[in-house]
Amino acid sequence: MLLENLKSQLVRARSMEVKDISNNIREVGFKCMRCGWCCCPDPDFEIEIMDIHRPSNAISVLPRDIRVIQDATGYNLLDVVEPDIYSCIRGEKTLAIGWILKRKPDGTCMFFDDNKNICGIYEHRPLICMCFPFFLDGSGMLEVRHCYGTHQQIEGIDALESGQRLVRYLTSKIEHYIAIWEGLGAELDLDKLSQVRLEHGLVLQVFDGETKSTVKYSDGTGFHLVQDY
Ligand code: SF4
Ligand code: SF4
Repeated sequence: MLLENLKSQLVRARSMEVKDISNNIREVGFKCMRCGWCCCPDPDFEIEIMDIHRPSNAISVLPRDIRVIQDATGYNLLDVVEPDIYSCIRGEKTLAIGWILKRKPDGTCMFFDDNKNICGIYEHRPLICMCFPFFLDGSGMLEVRHCYGTHQQIEGIDALESGQRLVRYLTSKIEHYIAIWEGLGAELDLDKLSQVRLEHGLVLQVFDGETKSTVKYSDGTGFHLVQDY
């Protein structure tokens, strides 16, 4: 049922009218003020659902985002991302659904350049970061997230590019969900999603729609890759 729903959403997303979306973006207006808010944790914007406390900057990334960053930086997988510990299913093994951008000990994205107050991988940043603060819901309505750069004048060409990115992100995200759903089948019980606590020796399987990896957490050194297949 959910899979059919996702497939219908994908068809809808692929036929969305970019011109309408970009007109809405122009009406809202946007210019990045380089405040860095979206790259840093803000306790007032934590997402709390049941026992999950997801920081405002726990940024889910797609496998292709990770590849782009790795190609540009030469970093290993676990230098770029960490398991999404806010989206786990506990069964025989604890399964994390996908990856989030790795963060520094203070919670800031590890690619944020504190000295310059900007993204240190700007040209190679994930699609979700390129879209912020705009997103599309399943019907193509523009969602505007908290951001200090809204209500600033935006050029038509920039609004158009922004609209194109939003549609690309929405379709990529739905394709990603479909790949996860098809790859996990019965293992994916969304009612059992929960957050796991980081503790020494924690072993997680991570599935990102393409690869299943096994990682282990150690105090002081963080996550290490045990195996991927
Ligand atoms: S996108 Fe918004 S919140 Fe993020 S750095 Fe730019 S102005 Fe700040
Ligand atoms: S990748 Fe760049 S834009 Fe995205 S959260 Fe990290 S520092 Fe911010």
